[in-house]
Amino acid sequence: MMEVRNVICVLLLGANSLVLAEDLTKAMTYLSQFGYLPSSVRSPSFGEILSPETITDAVKEFQSFAGLDVTGKLDNKTKHAMSSPRCGVKDKGFRTKTRSKRYAHQGTKWSNKDLTYKISKYPSRFSRSQTDSELKKAFSVWSDVTPLTFTQRSSGPVTIEIRFESGEHGDGGVFDGPGGTLAHATYPSNQGSYVHFDDSEDWTVDSYSGRNLFQVAVHECGHSLGLAHSEKESSVMTQYHRYQPYFELDEDDIAGIQALYERRRREETPYNPPQIPQSPGDGNCKEETVEKVINNVRFTMKTRNCFWSYFS
Ligand SMILES: [Zn+2]
Ligand SMILES: [Zn+2]
Repeated sequence: MMEVRNVICVLLLGANSLVLAEDLTKAMTYLSQFGYLPSSVRSPSFGEILSPETITDAVKEFQSFAGLDVTGKLDNKTKHAMSSPRCGVKDKGFRTKTRSKRYAHQGTKWSNKDLTYKISKYPSRFSRSQTDSELKKAFSVWSDVTPLTFTQRSSGPVTIEIRFESGEHGDGGVFDGPGGTLAHATYPSNQGSYVHFDDSEDWTVDSYSGRNLFQVAVHECGHSLGLAHSEKESSVMTQYHRYQPYFELDEDDIAGIQALYERRRREETPYNPPQIPQSPGDGNCKEETVEKVINNVRFTMKTRNCFWSYFS
């Protein structure tokens, strides 16, 4: 951590800051991890010293992206935002040119509309069948508003591979146990895409406790389709995880995904018309004579039985 200490000294001396070195180290690591400072800040080969202005600008940029007061200071709200559960994908690098807070595209998309996925590694403490159903629900959120289709496979090559992993798992994105980073994903590419969930999280369904697997999956699938983080707080593509009991996509999410894949056309919508009963025509009826015995008295009754037909 010698490199980070160098930077801290510069900041403390240059900015005359009262920020604790430990907090600053954490903040520097966070800003580097999520794209506000060069990744070399976390690298052992880091040799340059960042100016206090560079670091202050990075803090300001993070505060703006997170919807905080843009002070450039490492205040309590900023530290709290940096410790909130979130997605592991970088925030920066895919900003839209507009000044309004809205969706952002990473820059790649799938040319094929019929996509496949498989769950290569299931969670260790969550039902396998429920994992299948929550992931299916998550993909359907996106296929409901686009012409995309998603089919689960159990083997062979697929468009999107899903795994539940812990700690260091070979792609450089280290999971950090419960809280912090919950999941991460890659964008569309010739090599396909993947979504990784932190297996150490307490994954839950329809609950305020733990981490809602369905909603985190909707977010990560958004990345695997080409959406970057949105600055709009109500978007499912915001970097933070917040459980919504009555989940639905924000208009920003729908605009973002339809700008990539267009909207689902009427004829592509699975449409099952209501079955309306038709009045029975005479040809569908026939009369029958029925005998019944009520209180030892035999009755002969005529009934008219009709077969109702339905529009198909
Ligand atoms: Zn994300
Ligand atoms: Zn990973």
